[in-house]
Parts: sequence; C-alpha cells; structure tokens
Amino acid sequence: MSIRIGIMGYGNLGRGVECAIRNSEDAELVAVFTRRDPKMVDILTPNVPVYSVDQAISKKDDIDVLILCGGSATDLPVQTPKFAEYFNVVDSFDTHAKIPEHFANVDAAAKKGGKVGVISVGWDPGMFSLNRLYANAVLPKGQDYTFWGKGVSQGHSDAIRRIDGVKDARQYTIPVESALEAVRSGETPELTTRQKHTRECFVVAEEGADLERIEREIKTMPNYFADYDTTVHFITEEEMKRDHSTLPHGGFVIRSGKTGWDLEHTHIIEYSLKLDSNPEFTSSVILAYARAAYRLNQEGQSGCKTAFDIAPAYLSAQSGEELRAHLL
Ligand code: NAP
Repeated sequence: MSIRIGIMGYGNLGRGVECAIRNSEDAELVAVFTRRDPKMVDILTPNVPVYSVDQAISKKDDIDVLILCGGSATDLPVQTPKFAEYFNVVDSFDTHAKIPEHFANVDAAAKKGGKVGVISVGWDPGMFSLNRLYANAVLPKGQDYTFWGKGVSQGHSDAIRRIDGVKDARQYTIPVESALEAVRSGETPELTTRQKHTRECFVVAEEGADLERIEREIKTMPNYFADYDTTVHFITEEEMKRDHSTLPHGGFVIRSGKTGWDLEHTHIIEYSLKLDSNPEFTSSVILAYARAAYRLNQEGQSGCKTAFDIAPAYLSAQSGEELRAHLL
C-alpha cells in the first residue's frame, strides 16, 4: 500500500516533492493545495487535483501525510501548527534561531490532534544537523565546522533585488578553499566569517542605473555582505537566463576531533553535498521523513519530531530485514 501524500504550497519545493514522489516506490500524490487560484497552478502529475487551501481540512481522511512547502519566513510558522492538528505533517523550516519556538507550537497542535509533525528537515537543517550530532557524539573532544556552497542563496539574491536600479540578481556563497584545507589537515583554526566564505553576485541593472552605487550598496549591506569579501559582476538579462537559472547548492560538515589518553590522535569526519538542485534534494529528504511520520503515527505516536528524534530505519522504504542484510 502506498503512502498518500498531499502537498501544501506549490513553489520550488512543491515541485521537488512531486518529482520525489514520482521516483519513490511507496508514495503517491493525491492532492496539491495552494493559496492562489487553483486554476492558475499547473502541476506535473496528470489527474491529480489542485485545491484551494481552504478545502484542505475537508480532505484530511484521504491524506496520510501533508507536506508543507511554503516559505520559512512567514508561511510555515502559521501553516505547520495549523495543519498539524489535522494531518501528519512535514516541513523544512530553516530559521535556525526560531526552531525551538516552532517546535513548541507544532508539538502542542500535533498532540491535540494525535498526529506526528516533523519539522526542519532538508539538508540544513536536516542532513547537516544529523551529521553534526553523530560527529559530536562520537568525538566529544573536537571542533565543528560547517561550510556552505558553492550555491545560490535565495535570501541574499532577494536582498540585492531590493536595491534601487537592480532588475535581477543571483548570489553565490562560496567556501574559501584554504580554510577548508586547513580544517581537513587536522588543524583546528578559529575562522572568522570572512575567512570561511566569499560572496559572488551577478546583477542585471536597469538601463542607465549607477553601477558604482549599486556595487557599493551591495558590498556595504549590513548582515548580508559587509562581513564578507564580495565580488559583483554586471551581466545582461540573457546571460542571467542562460548561466544562472538553476538552484545549485551544497556544502561541508566537518568535525575535527581528538582521542587517546593525551588526545594524541586526530580524526576528521567529513560529510559533503554537491547539489544540482537545492529544492529537489531538500524535497527528497522531506519525502523520506514523510514515510517516517506516517509509520510513527501508525505506531500510535504523536507530537513534534526533528531529525534527531527519528531512528534511521524509519526513513527507508526497505524493511528492517532488508536493511540488516544489505546496508548494515
Ligand atoms: P518558493 O518557490 O518561493 O515557494 C514558497 C511558496 O510561495 C509556495 O509554497 C507557493 O505557495 C508560493 N508561490 C510559489 N510560486 C509562486 C508564484 N509564482 N506566485 C505566487 N506565489 C508563489 O520557495 P521554495 O524555494 O519552495 O522554498 C520554500 C522554503 O523551503 C524556503 O523558505 C526555505 O526556508 C525552505 N528550505 C529549506 C531547506 C532545508 O535544508 N531545510 C532547503 C531549501 C529550502 P502557494 O501555492 O500557496 O501560493
């Protein structure tokens, strides 16, 4: 029997979840919900209905897991607790500082409804968090490093687009190779923000715009760029479309740890991701956790869970027997 999935919100992640379902053995898409006019939202899967968000709760008995694909800034803090009372839900909430508050809200709603709500899965938070935890548990004496990129940061791209005279922009976060190498060599350097990542921006300016001012405004923007070495390239609309239309990302989680009586031995644990498509990868992680949410709820569990609370076997479509025979 396949797990019946609903998708709430149809952007990059919504489409990614749809692709992940197509490539999975045990999930089927049964409905998509949107806040827009459903007639304006074209999905890829034939013969699956698109409904208005207002109809979602009336479909609760037809859906095993509702995957929330809205944005972390304003959609998920409202939508995940709201729907966790009626559905098993999964989201990719990535505002790290607000995860404890989001957890508490989803936990209360999910317990009230007897459902499982899995929050903050994807790659960071998600797979990166798991790797940080495993490495810390195994090597308590040591230092953690997370590097992001090379990849597109949507938030930084949006920040550039808000500058007067900017028509379009794409920002890549790039790890500094020498810092990565130093960490991999077993040194445990204290790295500043500037020493870990650089930022590269591709900007389409409006005709006649003051390019020098735009570049200055980008490079001095507090929080986003001021603490980094930033380069700015002005390009044409055609170049933007041709060279910068995908959403690659990735990064590295490294723990450099010591063991031995006098901590004389060094161990490096490294997990790395090189993603052609950030939303498609994130969605693939989300679907694995949707499987877990369904199984946990079948076992009678309820409440909010993060990647830390869910045992790995729950993520796999294979049985425990198959996993022990082939992957252990
Ligand atoms: P997105 O494409 O902007 O979509 C967000 C929502 O905006 C959609 O659910 C959709 O809701 C609405 N929307 C999409 N296209 C629209 C359009 N053309 N016109 C009007 N509304 C539209 O965002 P995303 O790339 O899917 O990312 C969603 C969130 O995922 C991000 O905020 C980020 O926090 C999170 N994320 C997490 C990770 C992780 O590793 N944990 C990784 C990547 C992303 P309606 O259908 O209801 O209108």
